[in-house]
Amino acid sequence: MAPDTTHVTHATPDPAVDERATRVDGNALAGVLSALFAGDPTLLTLVCGHCARSGPLAEAVVERDETCAIVRCRGCTRTMLSVMIGPAGDVSVRPAALAELRSAASGA
Ligand SMILES: [Zn+2]
Repeated sequence: MAPDTTHVTHATPDPAVDERATRVDGNALAGVLSALFAGDPTLLTLVCGHCARSGPLAEAVVERDETCAIVRCRGCTRTMLSVMIGPAGDVSVRPAALAELRSAASGA
């Protein structure tokens, strides 16, 4: 992968941060998170925070209308997240009982 030249990471010094960690801003995650979101989103693994079931988004139960999709756990039916679709096509995700979101390559 080519180096990411669009995001510049800025150090944010904080004496409380452990010496083993480096405190920077969110630009430091550009490459890592693009790996998570670049592929087929239905292959992302969702882990339910209520019953701990994990599985790909493709297997979750989805209740959908024109402006909202509610993603429910197939194991316990809790709402893991909601996907809101705005009038201009903008999309937002509101986590609920989602404990973890894993890339398909994580092997879980
Ligand atoms: Zn569940």
